[in-house]
Amino acid sequence: MGVLDAVTERVAGRSDSVSLHECRDCGVILESAGPVCPTCGSTEIAYYEW
Ligand SMILES: [Zn+2]
Repeated sequence: MGVLDAVTERVAGRSDSVSLHECRDCGVILESAGPVCPTCGSTEIAYYEW
């Protein structure tokens, strides 16, 4: 699970809250997301915050 590894590493490296967006269609992680995925053009963007 490369995506999960990347998320875990990102969270562990920061002490404040972390938020990110993930495209539900292509799975790309977007650190500062607009309403549309820049990779595939999907508007199905999931939002996560810790
Ligand atoms: Zn996408």
